[in-house]
Amino acid sequence: MADSFDQIVIGGGPGGYVAAIRAAQLGQKTAVVERDKAGGRCLNYACIPAKTVLRTAEIFHEAQSSAELGVVGNDVQLDWGALHKRREDVSAALSGGVEGLWKKNKIEFVHGDASLTAEGNVKVGDETYEAKAVTLATGSVALPIPGVEFGGRVLETWGAWSLPERPNKIAVVGAGASGAELASAYARFGTEVLLIEMLDQILPAEDKDIAKVVERVFKKQGIDISTGAPVENVEAGESSVKFTYGDQSAEVDYLCVAGGRAPDVEGLGLEEAGVELEENGRKIKVDEFQRTTNQKVFAIGDLVNQKALAHKASEEGVIAVETAAGVETHPVDQNLIVGATFCAPQVASVGLTEAQAKEAGHEVKVGKQKIAGEGAGVVYDDKDGLVKLVVDAKYGEVLGAHIVGNRACDMIAELVATQALEGGYQELSRIVHPHPTVSEAVLDAARAVDGWAIHA
Ligand SMILES: Cc1cc2nc3c(=O)[nH]c(=O)nc-3n(C[C@H](O)[C@H](O)[C@H](O)COP(=O)(O)OP(=O)(O)OC[C@H]3O[C@@H](n4cnc5c(N)ncnc54)[C@H](O)[C@@H]3O)c2cc1C
Repeated sequence: MADSFDQIVIGGGPGGYVAAIRAAQLGQKTAVVERDKAGGRCLNYACIPAKTVLRTAEIFHEAQSSAELGVVGNDVQLDWGALHKRREDVSAALSGGVEGLWKKNKIEFVHGDASLTAEGNVKVGDETYEAKAVTLATGSVALPIPGVEFGGRVLETWGAWSLPERPNKIAVVGAGASGAELASAYARFGTEVLLIEMLDQILPAEDKDIAKVVERVFKKQGIDISTGAPVENVEAGESSVKFTYGDQSAEVDYLCVAGGRAPDVEGLGLEEAGVELEENGRKIKVDEFQRTTNQKVFAIGDLVNQKALAHKASEEGVIAVETAAGVETHPVDQNLIVGATFCAPQVASVGLTEAQAKEAGHEVKVGKQKIAGEGAGVVYDDKDGLVKLVVDAKYGEVLGAHIVGNRACDMIAELVATQALEGGYQELSRIVHPHPTVSEAVLDAARAVDGWAIHA
C-alpha cells in the first residue's frame, strides 16, 4: 500500500478539484488523482476555452460596429494566432491556480490514471492508495453521431474551439448550449454557420419565448438554422464534409457534433467495486448525498444524473466529501441549478419554463420586461434582451426565471437567490435595484406580473 488517505478524489475538474479542497478544509487527509491537467476538461478543453474564444468574438464584433459609438479606427482584423495563444494562456493560468489551491490546502496531487480496487481503494499505475472514502469525478466524453467517428474534419467541441484556422463554412450539429455558443462565435468571426437541431427549437431546454429571441438574433447574425432535421449520410473527405439533413444537403469545411456526452468510466473498475450504473448505463447511480451502490464510493458531476454543468459538479463535490467526512450537509436542489449559455445574446434560466410549470399543475402568471426598456439597456446596447418570470398565481412563488440579454448569465444570480430563499415576485417587485443597470429589467418583470412595470 503506497499511502493512505481519509479521502481520495479521482478527477481534477470543477467537481473533483472543489471536492478535494472542501475535504481538506474539513481536516481530511486528501489526495486527488488526475491523469491530465488540474482543472479538468472544464478549465482546459471546454467551458473556459469556449468562453475565452467567445470573448474575442464579442470584442471583434463590437469593434466592427464601434463607429456608431464614436470609436473609429482602421479596419479591424482577427489575429487567429493571438486569439488561440490567449486561450491557452487563460487555461494554463487557471489550471496553475487550481494546483496552487491544492498545494495551499496540503492536498496530494497524484498524476496518473486511477481505477478502483474491489475493496474501494485506488490504484494508480503500480501503486495502490488506501482511502476511507473515494469520490469519482471523471466527467464525460463526447458522443459521435451513430456511425460517424470523430477525426479529420468531423469534430467534437474541443476540436471546434481550437481549430488552427478560421473555417469558411462550419456546420454545428446540436443547438443546445455548446452548439449555440460555437455557432454564435464563428458567425461573429465571419464564418458561414449552419446550426442543425434534431428537436423543434434551438436551445431545447429553454423557455420558448427566450429561444425565439435567440433564433431571431442568430438569423440576423447570418446563422442558417435548421430544426427537426437529423444529420445523416455523413461523408468526411480530405478537405470537406458532405451530409444530408432532412431533405437538404450541405458541404462544409468542418462538421462539429455538439450533442450528447457519456460518462468517462472506461477502466475505472466500477463493476469490480460494485458501483452500479443507471439510465441504460449512461450515468452512475447515486443517492441524494452522491453515494453510489458501494457505500464508500461517491460520484459527482457529469458522471451522474441531471444537468451536465460545472457549477452543479462543484456543489455535488462539496456534498459528497462533507457526507464522507460525517459533517452535516444537505443535498443539491437540482431545480436551482442555473442553465447558462454564453452565446450572443446570453441565455440563463433557473427553475421551470412556462410550459413545465403548467404541466406540473401550477396556476401560472407571467411577467415580462424588455431590457431595452431600461436606461441601461439602451446605454449598453442590450437591444434584444428579455426577462421572463413564471410565478405561481396563488402563492406568488417564483417558479422559473428566464433571461436573454448581453449579461444574462450574471443577471440570473439574484433570481436563484430569490428562489432559494423562497421569495415571491411581490418581494422582488419592492427590492430597489441600482440605476442604471440591466438588473432593473428584473424589477420591472416582477412588477409586470401585476401589470405595473414602470418601463413597459
Ligand atoms: C464545449 C463545452 C463548454 C462547456 N461550457 C460550460 C459552461 O460554460 N459552464 C458550465 O457550467 N459547464 C459547461 N460545460 C460542461 C462542463 O464542462 C462539465 O459539466 C464539467 O466539466 C463537469 O465537471 P467534472 O468535474 O464532472 O468533469 P471534467 O471537467 O470532465 O473533469 C474530469 C477529469 O477527470 C480526469 N479523469 C478521467 N478519468 C480519469 C482517471 N481514470 N484517472 C484520473 N483522472 C481521470 C479527466 O482527465 C478530467 O480532467 C461545457 C462543456 C463543453 C463540452
